[in-house]
Amino acid sequence: MNVKRVYSIAIDGPAGAGKSTMAKLLAKKLGFVYVDTGAIYRTVGYHMDLMGIGPKDADGVLRLLDDVNLEITYDEGGVQHMILNGRDVSGEIRTPEMSKIASQISALSCVRTFLLDMQRDVAKTHNVIMDGRDIGTVVLPKADVKIYLTASAEVRAERRLKELQEKGMDVKYETVLKEIKERDHQDMTRTIAPLKQAKDALLLDTSELNLEQSVAAMESIIRERIVL
Ligand code: C5P
Repeated sequence: MNVKRVYSIAIDGPAGAGKSTMAKLLAKKLGFVYVDTGAIYRTVGYHMDLMGIGPKDADGVLRLLDDVNLEITYDEGGVQHMILNGRDVSGEIRTPEMSKIASQISALSCVRTFLLDMQRDVAKTHNVIMDGRDIGTVVLPKADVKIYLTASAEVRAERRLKELQEKGMDVKYETVLKEIKERDHQDMTRTIAPLKQAKDALLLDTSELNLEQSVAAMESIIRERIVL
């Protein structure tokens, strides 16, 4: 039997490092499926919030996971959409409030276990670029390429501020920086699947690089390891 080989690229790193922007561009260029796993955690957090369950109520979260129906779909432009119980919530999950809730509920083992197979299943059948916090360490430990993408907290806050302002949100740099630092701390110090660089991941620090240079650097790391 001739089984088609699929490739996986794991990109991990802290909030605002540019993972999704870069991964999206490269997925298009390489013809890979882009999987934004943060969006999946955000959708679960959004559901819990809608149902009035706080992130510290692990029993309540576990009960609600039973009746949550999550789907990942892609539109013609290859853009990922999150469907929660039949409704597209891709816009609603992109707020600073949802970033915080996602980070809190993602520390719960029931949530991480619930989402593990969903993430792995996509990578079994498609060439994927998957980004998140534990892709190279937990979700796809055998990924063909692993990159740990980072930048200083200040640079990440500036980039995030611009993104939020472009969406018309009225936010201050100091607030964004504080939230980024809090999320770094929460994601890096949790007991289960904390954010860290996998031993075999390449470190790419984009503090001094613009988007074009960062994408070029990531593309050359990938092409050195995968012949397409
Ligand atoms: O990537 P994004 O900022 O959308 O992720 C939101 C939150 O979801 C992160 O702060 C992190 O706590 C959680 N997350 C995670 N594991 C992943 C992806 C995201 O714990 N693989």
